[in-house]
Amino acid sequence: MKVDDFPSHIQPYLIPNVSGQVVYRCLDCETEYDIHRLLYTCPACKSVLLLTDLAFDRLKQIPSGTWHQIFDYRKMLNIPALQGIYRFHEFIGPMMPLDAIIYLGEGHTPMVEANAYLQDLVGARFYFKNEGQNPSASFKDRGMASALSYINLLVNTGKLGDVLAVCASTGDTSASAALYAAYLQPAVKSAVLLPHKKVTSQQLAQPLGSGAVVFEIPGVFDDSMKVVEALSEQYNVALLNSKNAWRIWGQESYSYEIAQDFDYDMDRKVMVVPIGNAGNITAIISGFLKFFEAGIIDGLPKIIGVQSTHANPVYRYYLEPDPAKRHFAPVKVRPSVAQAAMIGNPVSMPRVIQLVETYNHKAGSQAIFFAEVEEQAIMDWQLTANRNGHIACTQGGETLAGLVEAKGRGIVGKDDVVVLNATAHALKFAGFQAMYFENRFPPEFEIAPKASLQNAPRLVHPQDLDAVPTPDKPLEGKDFDRFVQRTAEAIAEALALPPREP
Ligand SMILES: *Cc1c(COP(=O)(O)O)cnc(C)c1O
Ligand SMILES: [Zn+2]
Repeated sequence: MKVDDFPSHIQPYLIPNVSGQVVYRCLDCETEYDIHRLLYTCPACKSVLLLTDLAFDRLKQIPSGTWHQIFDYRKMLNIPALQGIYRFHEFIGPMMPLDAIIYLGEGHTPMVEANAYLQDLVGARFYFKNEGQNPSASFKDRGMASALSYINLLVNTGKLGDVLAVCASTGDTSASAALYAAYLQPAVKSAVLLPHKKVTSQQLAQPLGSGAVVFEIPGVFDDSMKVVEALSEQYNVALLNSKNAWRIWGQESYSYEIAQDFDYDMDRKVMVVPIGNAGNITAIISGFLKFFEAGIIDGLPKIIGVQSTHANPVYRYYLEPDPAKRHFAPVKVRPSVAQAAMIGNPVSMPRVIQLVETYNHKAGSQAIFFAEVEEQAIMDWQLTANRNGHIACTQGGETLAGLVEAKGRGIVGKDDVVVLNATAHALKFAGFQAMYFENRFPPEFEIAPKASLQNAPRLVHPQDLDAVPTPDKPLEGKDFDRFVQRTAEAIAEALALPPREP
């Protein structure tokens, strides 16, 4: 639809203007910095930054009903820049001119309700939000669309020349960074640092295919992260890790979409999110807070952050009930099937600590919880979900295991409606599925496959067939007829198929 086709009272709002007063703000010393350069940590105190719109209060002047209409009508506009995360332009990049926006099809991922069987099994009403349906097959595309649109803006306005974008990654950040950078080549080139043998073969194939320079670094993700931080401090590169506040901003769109999908009614809603570097949970908390402050939603949903027992620094931090006694200590990670979240020293921890406090305060009682789950539960629940029509990755399995755990602890009530973040596509983690099916997990994973969840292909080659087709030697005539008939019979026997009535 075209703007003129909409009700006249909403027309002036539909195409967003460049507006707001956006600055980086240090989380610790609260110094504010101009956004006309790339900045990742506070030059004064080295703490992490968040982006803040100093003119945010203007958004509160628009009544909530009008906001609902703005976002809902925008869905129908045929303007690519507003079809992705920037449907929520005023909240995630009000200074962004529409012609700088890079849209590769990210955002607006479906929420798919679990079938009756699975809901009964878990004892809760829940959906998966399929972040694997983003262009590089994970939620990272939301933040990357924001970060690369911003870099594009700096390039377009002559504030930045040849850009080398770099990131360290557990697999999906690099896949996403390489994809979005490739779209902007030759102005932007990318290099990615991956922990050697700690990303799946699919995740390695992605940045290679996008033409990025790929470095494999000994150790785990936390080691790669230190190297990339050293690079960004000493050399002229654009850092695309979630330390980059633009990434967080784009990822806030996840919360806005969920609010919209529930018609802005967040009563009795529960969000379950896996935590790695803690950028995603930061963005989700921040997103709901902003919609709440602007009056677009009138309640805050519960949020449950989930970690594996093999990489659980955030969970451990919050085990101490007294905030004054809490102490953050990085953990040494152990191998995890939730490999994209296998991080012992999350860079967004300071953001989490501050936002959790604000969120619980605004919610009026504790609304953010943390759960930890066993590796076994992650695999079992991932496979169970996918045997019921989902496309959850191992981190998606982690959220379902987290829901079961949280339900057991009474955090999720019987009338709650839960949204599980399936952060990537199952296919990226097909290797762990194969290890489960073939019982090949090394002991340190602590996973024993359940026969009921295993699966394997079966070769059909009846003993009495001596001629079968091969790619370079097709069968013909009687040999071919016999091959078709005997193979069909063998399959029918294996499946115990009853013959058709004559
Ligand atoms: C990055 C990632 C996570 C962890 O998100 P953080 O923002 O690092 O906490 C979880 N799942 C998948 C699939 C990811 O790619
Ligand atoms: Zn500071």
